[in-house]
Amino acid sequence: MRGRLAVVGLGPGDPRQLTPEAGAALADASDLVGYGPYLARVPAAPNQVRHASGNRAELARARQAAALAATGRRVAVVSSGDAGIFAMASAVFEAIETGEPTWRELDVEIVPGISAMLAAAARIGAPLGHDFCAISLSDNLKPWEVVRARLAAAAAAGFVIALYNPRSRARPWQLGDAFGLLGSILPAATPVAFATAVTRPEERIEITALEKADPERADMRTLVLIGSAAMRRIDRPGARPWLYAPRGSDAA
Ligand code: SAH
Repeated sequence: MRGRLAVVGLGPGDPRQLTPEAGAALADASDLVGYGPYLARVPAAPNQVRHASGNRAELARARQAAALAATGRRVAVVSSGDAGIFAMASAVFEAIETGEPTWRELDVEIVPGISAMLAAAARIGAPLGHDFCAISLSDNLKPWEVVRARLAAAAAAGFVIALYNPRSRARPWQLGDAFGLLGSILPAATPVAFATAVTRPEERIEITALEKADPERADMRTLVLIGSAAMRRIDRPGARPWLYAPRGSDAA
């Protein structure tokens, strides 16, 4: 029997932002593999085995999932947000490419989810309505100089930037360094949004300007959006402003 390996994006937190396709893939699995807190978000199903692992063990977890699927099990690997964005889908393909030849015969399916930047953008207005990019600020898997070069190139090119993994206890200074670098390229008033725990009960969203952005405001559950010089801000009485990317105002 050919094993099944689904890599499933759970969305940002609220079960209403889990797609019906993802829900079906989870319910159909004999085994769930993933980081403990993400598994905890999946409703229990009868006779389903759960294999929880730590946050860092991505490749080991992917190999475990492939090995399980190769025995004929129906395995679902879970990720938050979208499984293909800074998440488990890449680790699964890395495991397949470097692993047992039989793993290439697995029935692999990537089930997309609502990524943090999409959930955050929907709260903020329409900040991703024109050209944008996503950058992970984590320097666990790439040198900090590479992150800086990408930030500078993206800002200079006029992209709105969605920053994933902006700050953690192990990486306390990188976001401040990034704000300093971006401040040397973008106008001081460029809008910056901090979107924390979007769609979860602790959700907190704050809109500020680059010159006032406090890196301490971000944690591991925060998506930071950096506007472009073209981004518009609509102030509202007694409410958070809206940010939107105009459809065609870029200067040539
Ligand atoms: N695959 C995920 C991203 C995983 S990287 C996705 O597509 O969303 C982890 C980073 O995602 C966090 O550090 C944070 O920047 C962001 N993130 C995940 N869930 C979030 C949420 N509910 N609100 C804000 N940011 C979130």
